[in-house]
Amino acid sequence: ATHLLARARTHTALGAYVDVREDTTLAQARAADARIANGSAGALEGVPLAHKDIFVTQDFATTAGSRMLKGYRSPFDATVVAKLKDAGTVTLGKLNCDEFAMGSSNENTAIAAVGFDTVVPTRNPWNASRIPGGSSGASAAAVAGRLAPAATGTDTGGSIRQPASFCGITGIKPTYGRASRYGMVAFASSLDQAGPMARSAQDCALLLSQMCGPDLDRDSTSIDMPAEDFSRTLDQSIEGLRIGVPAEFFGEGLSSDVRATVDAALKQYEKLGAKLVPIALPRTELSIPVYYIIAPAEASSNLSRFDGVKFGHRADKYTDLADMYKKTRAEGFGDEVKRRIMIGTYVLSHGYYDAYYLQAQKIRRMIADDFQNAFQQCDVIAGPVAPTVAWKLGEKSDDPVANYLADIFTLPGSLAGLPGMSVPVGFATTGDDAGMPIGMQLIGNYFQESRLLNAAHRFQ
Ligand code: GLN
Repeated sequence: ATHLLARARTHTALGAYVDVREDTTLAQARAADARIANGSAGALEGVPLAHKDIFVTQDFATTAGSRMLKGYRSPFDATVVAKLKDAGTVTLGKLNCDEFAMGSSNENTAIAAVGFDTVVPTRNPWNASRIPGGSSGASAAAVAGRLAPAATGTDTGGSIRQPASFCGITGIKPTYGRASRYGMVAFASSLDQAGPMARSAQDCALLLSQMCGPDLDRDSTSIDMPAEDFSRTLDQSIEGLRIGVPAEFFGEGLSSDVRATVDAALKQYEKLGAKLVPIALPRTELSIPVYYIIAPAEASSNLSRFDGVKFGHRADKYTDLADMYKKTRAEGFGDEVKRRIMIGTYVLSHGYYDAYYLQAQKIRRMIADDFQNAFQQCDVIAGPVAPTVAWKLGEKSDDPVANYLADIFTLPGSLAGLPGMSVPVGFATTGDDAGMPIGMQLIGNYFQESRLLNAAHRFQ
């Protein structure tokens, strides 16, 4: 922990950490040492890790990347944080993210990273002029940049898988409901899920085993299934595993580097004894409009709590209550968050609800059904995580739609609530992209996390 803290203090160029508190971390490390010495060590005793700043923490500030929560300190720990602490982990600090987890590049943060006086983008450790992905971009950057052996992330429409792919690390988003959402600053509640980001499937399995489990009193969507030991089946043979390959994931717009690398990984899986099965996910393209209706709709409702009254930012000067709300929200939220609140409010409003929100919900159900049809023929689904490697800083920062389109391969699984992971499988070789990492996505049926981790581990 001391070594990693020193790295967090000196290697600030990545702009990954937003809060580091040496005394807190070292006290936790000493407590872990004491438990190891007296024989009461937890499953992850002494393992240092860092949390995405979307999880509320008692010991560190929680901002969710927003001016709205700048300096906010939670009176309690998120369930996922509490569980990892109970298992003995030592918290290195909090990691930057896109504001309220809305984004794909980590450029949407309003919080200055440790070592900076102004807001800076988090950088990709493989190439400092590139984004690390998002919204759990700093989690991926910290792990890839050796500032933390592991980190937590959250995934609403790809925010664990995409940055893991862009930074060449492993990340898994479990089945919706596996990990408690209690204490995760809410973005889109029917989609938000927590998961681990680490160097290998093995590390992810160890962490995920501690992060999951029922929390019925605090999260009504938490699933009443006992926590599982996801490490148990890591070494199983994948002989005969049927890997579904959706044609829609290999269409136009896929970079030649990503295509070639994922194709090579599929060939490697065949060598390991898996069988490739062509499948169809015909509504893949529709997942973009469907997600960008449902997620903003839920966000517009979730973010109504930031009104300047109960907690967070409040405008300095105002005339009356309505003016206080307006000024507080105008000052506290960034552009992307405002854009989504407006879209969400619009699609939920009288006269438009049926045309947008209701339609989106119907197609969401069909997308989930498409997956169930596909899983009749295969055990896991494989394809790219994103159409390209990490893009350059600033390249898409003025173009929200370009950001949304890049989510095409992660959104379908999110809408269906399925577990998905990103496994590093190679690097780009052409032009400016050369050397950038490429991840392969594995999607499983509900509660098949151990199968995904097993398939990833055998590959690694
Ligand atoms: N890029 C997607 C978005 O901007 C996904 C974000 C996420 O999973 N939190 O909404």
